[in-house]
Amino acid sequence: MKFDLLVIGSGGTGLSAALEAASQGASVAVVTKSLPTRAQTCMAQGGINAALGNVEPDSVEEHIADTLRSAHGLADETMVRTLCEAGPETIEWLDRMLVPFSRIDRSDQSTHSPLPATRSIAQRRLGGAGHPRACYAQDYTGLKILQSLYDRCREAGVRFYTEHALLELILSVPRQARSPMLALGERLAPRVHGALFWDIAAGELRSIQAGATLLATGGYGELYHGYTTNTTGATGDGIAAALRAGAVLSDLEFVQFHPTAMTGSAILISESARGAGGTLITEEGERFTDELAPRDEVAAAMFAQIQKGHTLYLDLRHLERSYLEELMPQELRLARIHAHVDPLREPIPVQPAVHYTMGGIDVDARFAARGLEGLYAAGECSNAHVHGANRLGGNSLLEIVAFGRLAARYALERPLSSDPAAAEATERQSAEWIDGLFAKPAEFSLYQKRKILGKRLYHDLGIVRDRELMEDAAAYLDTLLEKLPRIGLGDRSRTHNQELVDYLAFDNALLLAVAMTQSALLRTESRGAHRRSDYPEEDPAWARPSRVRLERGAIVCF
Ligand SMILES: Cc1cc2nc3c(=O)[nH]c(=O)nc-3n(C[C@H](O)[C@H](O)[C@H](O)COP(=O)(O)OP(=O)(O)OC[C@H]3O[C@@H](n4cnc5c(N)ncnc54)[C@H](O)[C@@H]3O)c2cc1C
Repeated sequence: MKFDLLVIGSGGTGLSAALEAASQGASVAVVTKSLPTRAQTCMAQGGINAALGNVEPDSVEEHIADTLRSAHGLADETMVRTLCEAGPETIEWLDRMLVPFSRIDRSDQSTHSPLPATRSIAQRRLGGAGHPRACYAQDYTGLKILQSLYDRCREAGVRFYTEHALLELILSVPRQARSPMLALGERLAPRVHGALFWDIAAGELRSIQAGATLLATGGYGELYHGYTTNTTGATGDGIAAALRAGAVLSDLEFVQFHPTAMTGSAILISESARGAGGTLITEEGERFTDELAPRDEVAAAMFAQIQKGHTLYLDLRHLERSYLEELMPQELRLARIHAHVDPLREPIPVQPAVHYTMGGIDVDARFAARGLEGLYAAGECSNAHVHGANRLGGNSLLEIVAFGRLAARYALERPLSSDPAAAEATERQSAEWIDGLFAKPAEFSLYQKRKILGKRLYHDLGIVRDRELMEDAAAYLDTLLEKLPRIGLGDRSRTHNQELVDYLAFDNALLLAVAMTQSALLRTESRGAHRRSDYPEEDPAWARPSRVRLERGAIVCF
């Protein structure tokens, strides 16, 4: 099976890329380990940023300035400009894709928008933004985007492979050409010709070859299992596969904690609640922070209160009932079901939880993965250097759509020829590995270890870190790796084996946890979401990405 473009992941990134490629006449396959519209994107509530200025005057320059401020000196200004400039056109495109954005009645207002088609789209203010800039569809923004894109993908003839879990990228290492252009000892980058998957329903391997491969597999927030707003699918599988194949990862230590996850369930109450005037209070009713400061600052202020023994709440009682019911219906329902609280009458118990991972596959301005040829990455699995040390709310949805489309365009420009021998070799190695997995003893429970890992990371690589805590995490990861040969599968069936899928994710999560811990230890400063009590200040020498790669099975930081 060979396609022009293989897209791995069916979130907002994957579907935007697929549609763009299909619109250029390319053959496209989208592969997901789940069902097409069951991606983390569908959980996004708050909105997608674009400087439309529909509610009050705004500009792309102000969007850029807010993004750079939030990134704490770690973003690439050119990439940020590309992102923010793409905002208005991205909303226009989504509007054409029939995303049902919430609208405002413009009949009695003057407009500041240069885009007539989108000037009636409602916008709200999220933390760290100078203006109401996030376009939304009630509090179902991500879901509506994903459903609309999926419908358009079906109409465009995009081929979907569902319930296929990525195992490895298909790699060929080109023989050293005798070229005067290559300096002595210089290596040609390995080439990616597609990927190998585990077909969950059939219980067999399936390789899909492609001229270009785009990873759109999302972030790694689920490493903090039990302490994250993310789906259980956010285990960083694509990032780990890229690392094993030779890609460079960057800024893994930057993990964003969202201030308002419901205590106990870690289910998100979106920033739009604070944007609308919701306040953060202690059990005594005291406010203690600027609720609309960037997330890293609000989360740190909350952490300080929790350390003092306070219980924290999000208070929406003073907001208009009609506003909450019209624009935040999902969140009202989630609070009633999961916190047993009626937000119209009671404050919601909240605490910060892991929400977004800024680090990922290091890509260049064409979204090509550094260290490999033929591999591209976009969305939360990538690090396109637009979020730096702390992502601005509403910028991820913009990134996944705008950069998903751009990445597809670049990927189609330089197709690689296929390499069936490489596919066969990858399939042989993976078949052996899977057989070995089924033969392993199941002395320790994978699920118990996953739970402990999540708790350890939340504690040791949490909102405030120090060397001692992080070394504890590293030591714990060493013991987990020693035990891995005895963490086998209880369920030995080949077809529909969810435990096998969870094992694959756990194996990837372990590799990334090691890389993340080493990156965090290396960065001896505090910056954005990476706060160290032993290095409380920003160090100008560290105003650069941290990078890791795998060399002979070991993580190397550089
Ligand atoms: C609760 C919540 C609310 C949010 N609200 C907002 C918001 O309002 N605004 C905003 O800008 N951002 C928001 N975010 C962040 C934003 O939703 C995500 O960053 C973004 O949707 C990620 O999109 P993606 O396409 O990169 O990945 P995802 O949507 O995570 O999609 C990843 C895809 O890859 C697939 N996949 C993963 N591993 C494998 C594998 N091994 N094999 C095959 N397929 C695989 C998955 O099944 C999925 O289809 C929110 C996040 C959360 C958790």
